[in-house]
Amino acid sequence: MSLEKYHVQTLRCNRCSLCKWVPQPKIASWRFAAACPSIQKYNFHAYSGGGRIIIACALLENKIDYTDELARIVYTCSMCGACDVSCKMNYGGNLEPLEIMHALRVKCVEKGRIPPRHKTLLEDIREYDNPYKEPRKKREEWAEGMSIKDLSHEKAEVLYYVGCTSAYRLPGLARTTATILQNAGVDFGILGKEELCCASTAYKIGDEALMEEYAKDNIEKFNSLGVKQVVTSCSGCYHMFKSYYPPIGKMNFDVLHITEYIERLMKEGKIKLSKRVPIKATYHDPCHLGRLAEPHVPWNGVEKKVMGQLIITDPPKEVRFGVKGVYDPPRNILRSIPGLEFVEMERIREYSWCCGSGGGVKAAFPELASFAAAERIEEANATGAEALVTACPFCEINLGDAIREGKVKIKLYDIVELVLEAMRGEGVEGG
Ligand code: SF4
Ligand code: SF4
Repeated sequence: MSLEKYHVQTLRCNRCSLCKWVPQPKIASWRFAAACPSIQKYNFHAYSGGGRIIIACALLENKIDYTDELARIVYTCSMCGACDVSCKMNYGGNLEPLEIMHALRVKCVEKGRIPPRHKTLLEDIREYDNPYKEPRKKREEWAEGMSIKDLSHEKAEVLYYVGCTSAYRLPGLARTTATILQNAGVDFGILGKEELCCASTAYKIGDEALMEEYAKDNIEKFNSLGVKQVVTSCSGCYHMFKSYYPPIGKMNFDVLHITEYIERLMKEGKIKLSKRVPIKATYHDPCHLGRLAEPHVPWNGVEKKVMGQLIITDPPKEVRFGVKGVYDPPRNILRSIPGLEFVEMERIREYSWCCGSGGGVKAAFPELASFAAAERIEEANATGAEALVTACPFCEINLGDAIREGKVKIKLYDIVELVLEAMRGEGVEGG
C-alpha cells in the first residue's frame, strides 16, 4: 500500500511512545524492558516506531522534505517489528507501524533518497543475485563431496533452499543441515549455483519491484521442480516465502523452516536425539522466524468509522500480533536434547529483542547492529546460560561478531549443530 493511503493512520498515532517498550504485561525487569534497538541507541524520538510515523505524516503534509539526513533516520532501523507488536498489543491493532515504515522506505526508494550502502546493496543483488557480491559458482561449494541431488536435473520431494548467507558466509551450517537430512533419510536436493536470492534485503530496503522479480522467478522455479516442501535454513528466506510471496504467485509447495522440519522428522521417528549434550542453553528468537513470519492473510477491504469514533475494518481484518510465528518447534527440539538444560531470557517470542542485523543495518550501520547484539548477549548472560542458540545464520553472524568484540564468555550455536551432536548417539557421522 502506498504511503498516501496510510495518512489517516499516521494521524491516529497518539504519540504515547509505548512502542519503545515491551508490552507492559510482559515486562519482567526494568533492565530488559526496552523493545526498540534504534531508540535505545540514538535516544531521540525520531528513531522510534512512533517517531518514524510522525516523519511519514510530516512528509505527506509537505512539512518536511526527503533529504539524506531523513533517509539516515528512516534506515537506522532493523525493521524488526517489535514496535509493531507493542503498539498493537496496547491498542488492539488499528495502527500498523511496521507497514507504515515499510511504505516510507518504498517512498524513499522512489525518491532516490536512501543511504549509499543501501543503494549499493540493491545494485549488488541485481548484479550478483546475492547481497554479498559473490560469484554464482561459489554458491554450491559448501556441498562439495556430499553427494546431494542437484534439482536442476534430478527429482526429489524436498528442496533444501540454502539461502545466500548460509551458502556464502556459513557453509558449515549448510553442511550440518544437509547431513541431518541425509541421516534422517529425507529425499531432498538443492539448486546449487542455480539458487537465487530470496530478495528479503531488497524488500526490507523498500525496493518492491526488485523483490517481486525474484519472487516470481523463485515461485516459478520451485513449482517447476514438483517438490512438496521447500525447507529453509534462514529465517529471512522463510519469512519472505511465508508472508510476502503468497500474494505474488500460487505456490504448489509447503514452506518449512528447518526447525519445523526437524520437529516433524522427530515425531515421525526419523530423527532420534539420544546423545547427551550437557549444556545450559538459552534461545534467541530471530525476528524473521518469530513475529515477522506470520503467514500471509489476504485482506481487501476498507476502514470505517462507526459511532463517531470507533474504527472498524469491513470485512474484518485479521490483526498480525506476531504470535503466530515459529516459536515452539525450536524450543521443543532443545527440550528434547538429553542433558540440555533450557532457560528462557526475559524478552522472548513476539516481544523478543532483535539481534540488530536486519533491514540493511548490519551493512550500513554496523554500530547499531553491534549495540543491539551486545544487549542481547547481556540478556542471555543474565540467565546463567553457557550457550546462546539461534536458528538464523544472519543472527548467528551478528551475535558472533558481538561476542568476539565484547570478549564475552558464552558459546554460540545454530540449533542444527546441537541437533546433529545429539543425533550422534545413533552413530551418526558427518557435518
Ligand atoms: S506507534 Fe503506537 S505505540 Fe507508538 S507512539 Fe504511536 S500509538 Fe503509541
Ligand atoms: S522496527 Fe524495530 S528497530 Fe525499527 S523502530 Fe520498530 S522496534 Fe525500532
